[in-house]
Amino acid sequence: MKLYAKCPKCKSEISFTKWVSDRIEFKKSNGEYISLTCKNCNKKTKFHIVNIEAKENKIAHFIALSVLLIGTSLLLIFLWDFLFLTINIYTIAGLLSILVVPSIIFGIITKNERKRVRLFNYS
Ligand SMILES: [Zn+2]
Repeated sequence: MKLYAKCPKCKSEISFTKWVSDRIEFKKSNGEYISLTCKNCNKKTKFHIVNIEAKENKIAHFIALSVLLIGTSLLLIFLWDFLFLTINIYTIAGLLSILVVPSIIFGIITKNERKRVRLFNYS
């Protein structure tokens, strides 16, 4: 996951990727400290794991939002004809409930991302 540390000299964010899900795992594979070089001022700093933070992935959010917007519009286009072909209220309700699917996927992705970040930051 994407992890962040703050450069003590210029306060800019240093990001790096590690395949760990929490600080315990991080400690196991990297030890308690990690040396990172600031891309902004080139200062090398040794960070303790408590100063390493996880943040929600922007790409995951982007994917979730795309699923929501594209999924809903595609379903709406696809269902549009069916909606007018039927007069049965239950069929209409059933078809409309399919429209909820993209928002459920959106919810799952964003919730998982939040959970991952919380797991790391509070471990
Ligand atoms: Zn710096």
